[in-house]
Amino acid sequence: RPRTRSASTRQWPCRAPASAAVEPRSPSCPDPALPAGAPAPAPTSPPALHRFSDPAEIEALRGNLLAWYDRCKRDLPWRALAATEPDADRRGYAVWVSEIMLQQTQVATVIDYYNRWMQKWPTLQALAQASLEEVNELWAGLGYYSRGKRLQEAARKVVCELGGHMPRTAEALQKLLPGVGRYTAGAIASISYGQATGVVDGNVIRVLCRLRCIGADSSSPAVIDRLWDMANALVDRSRPGDFNQALMELGATVCVPKAPLCGECPVKQHCRARCRRLFGKPTPVPDVEDCGEFGDCSLCPPATEPWDSSLGVTNFPRKAAKKQPRAMRTATCVLERRGCRGGPEYLIVQRPSSGLLAGLWEFPSVPLAQDLQEEKEREVLADHLQAWMGQPVAAKGLRFIGEVIHIFSHIHQTYVVYSLPLDGDVTLDPASSPSRWVTEEEFHASAVSTAMKKVL
Ligand code: SF4
Repeated sequence: RPRTRSASTRQWPCRAPASAAVEPRSPSCPDPALPAGAPAPAPTSPPALHRFSDPAEIEALRGNLLAWYDRCKRDLPWRALAATEPDADRRGYAVWVSEIMLQQTQVATVIDYYNRWMQKWPTLQALAQASLEEVNELWAGLGYYSRGKRLQEAARKVVCELGGHMPRTAEALQKLLPGVGRYTAGAIASISYGQATGVVDGNVIRVLCRLRCIGADSSSPAVIDRLWDMANALVDRSRPGDFNQALMELGATVCVPKAPLCGECPVKQHCRARCRRLFGKPTPVPDVEDCGEFGDCSLCPPATEPWDSSLGVTNFPRKAAKKQPRAMRTATCVLERRGCRGGPEYLIVQRPSSGLLAGLWEFPSVPLAQDLQEEKEREVLADHLQAWMGQPVAAKGLRFIGEVIHIFSHIHQTYVVYSLPLDGDVTLDPASSPSRWVTEEEFHASAVSTAMKKVL
């Protein structure tokens, strides 16, 4: 193991970000790589248990992971484009679209959306010319709608301000493209342009925390910084894009959250969580097995929640308890009339162009105060419809249908659903939001949220 680290041979970039506090080494985490009396490494270097310090091990891990990826990787449309597209800007765009769609969304759901998107807007230039309405229509059902809007705004910026050329490095991508964060920038730069830069997403966090027994809150900035350092140190220099995808693929298919398939894992011999499960120690290296649990190591599980042998490797990673989503109630009314072809038609209105579900269409809706009696809720909705339609709406005429619950990332939304059949047309206040009558088929093709589909 190297005792000294020159700038060019350093395997572990130990630099802490300027803002990070310098952490003293825990006395219970001695570094077994150092002989007695040797000078201590940089004070920000993590304890030995939680880092990769052996260049031979790093090489072996890269090789094992890439060989497994070559054998087992899933056939995905964006991978095919990244591998075969000769135009560098289009290649970057293809990876970018996939990365944005994959945020918070399962691969299986994304494939169909991705194919339709790339068919409709195969280039940055095509996307830049699309309307927000078209983008929302195609995005409908994928959730987190601002992603589509931001993607299109950023495409316009590339076309109008960057001469149609994608920035080629992670740093430039993150700096120049709105909505592109550190992860997305690293993914585009490594996969499309071969930059040797790591990525850290939810799958990578899980794999790295298990490989190196990191049990401190994995959403804390201190742990995230360590994981970025580790990802940057591990990434294969000659196949960075494949390496990053392999690490994420491992997290998605083998090192899964609840029942990881450790027996099939290509990097199991490097995994300290598995070692600890099998042998009661995280590593054969002596003196580090009790790292932190009785001390103050900032990367170990807190002393109050030590290793739980019934959980095995799923002791890692750990997250601070999530904030409870905010509860909201909204009354919504499905106004229905008979269309000219005899079938039912429904009235939908467009939401404001900013805020939650910006620009999407919905049934006329009004937020409700918590703990209102049903009768009062009905009156609030009737008043809202009346102001909007310019004609009296009797609260009693609203038929209560039921409640629909939809969980947004930070909101637990309950829609209280009513219906109101109408005999004739209604004249809507031109000052109110845009609105239109749609058949059921047109409703599903419109830019409506999944929640509204549930309401219908
Ligand atoms: Fe994950 Fe198990 Fe592989 Fe460790 S051995 S990386 S816990 S799948």
